[in-house]
Amino acid sequence: MSDIHHGGCVCGAVRYRVRGNPVVGTVCHCKFCQKRLASAFAVLASYKIEDVETQGEVKEVEHRSDVSGRWLKMQFCPECGTTLSHTAEWRPGMRAVAAGTLDDPTWLRIDRHIWTQSKLPWVVIPEGVETYPQGAGIPAR
Ligand SMILES: [Zn+2]
Ligand SMILES: [Zn+2]
Repeated sequence: MSDIHHGGCVCGAVRYRVRGNPVVGTVCHCKFCQKRLASAFAVLASYKIEDVETQGEVKEVEHRSDVSGRWLKMQFCPECGTTLSHTAEWRPGMRAVAAGTLDDPTWLRIDRHIWTQSKLPWVVIPEGVETYPQGAGIPAR
């Protein structure tokens, strides 16, 4: 089926599939995402948990925000360390897939850029997307 998209970690021990388009496509420029993904920003495809099906064992590590005190859990491959997704206390029922792990992320639509206050100066945000200096909620759709 064409509305099923596949993805996985670099070593192949963990594979997953997602159903349809994400509720929202987000680029997050927060310092936490920069660090946890060893990158300039995070590209996140947020799905309802029931629309993400994972095969293989994932390790989950909990992080507590030193700002809000709320938890965030990162799911990654215990073999190769690829971060595959995260869930957050403030997003019940949602799973944010790390979009770089999709086999083909080209179809993904980015709706917004968040935490632009900590965006690295050499990252240029395209025109026509919503931007938020800090976080933003999941839009109702
Ligand atoms: Zn792996
Ligand atoms: Zn972030």
